[in-house]
Amino acid sequence: MPYKAMHPCGHPGCPEIVPSGQKYCEKHRAEHKSEDIRPGRKNGNLYSTKRWQVLRRQVLMAHPICQICGKAIADTVDHVTPHRGNEELFYDPGNLQALCKACHDRKTWNEDKNPVYEY
Ligand SMILES: [Zn+2]
Ligand SMILES: [Zn+2]
Repeated sequence: MPYKAMHPCGHPGCPEIVPSGQKYCEKHRAEHKSEDIRPGRKNGNLYSTKRWQVLRRQVLMAHPICQICGKAIADTVDHVTPHRGNEELFYDPGNLQALCKACHDRKTWNEDKNPVYEY
């Protein structure tokens, strides 16, 4: 009978032994899987809502030119304060600005470099 290497579950403090090739025991596999997909799916849902589509079009119609450089055609609606999944911030018209792609990328890059941590 071929010997299969066993190792402990990757979840901190979990005593379960799992076969090689699997990172977590039965229970923790489900737990860690849902952790991985939750944030992305939440944001994806907000951006695909009818409410956002309408709001986004209104902002771009009100501000056809980029609100940062004032030159390029705006094609991106940006959240002045990063919403991070917060629906109130996400749908707040006062928190939205129309940007061209270049300005938006620059802003996002700065935000990623200086992330706001919430404790
Ligand atoms: Zn486990
Ligand atoms: Zn611009």
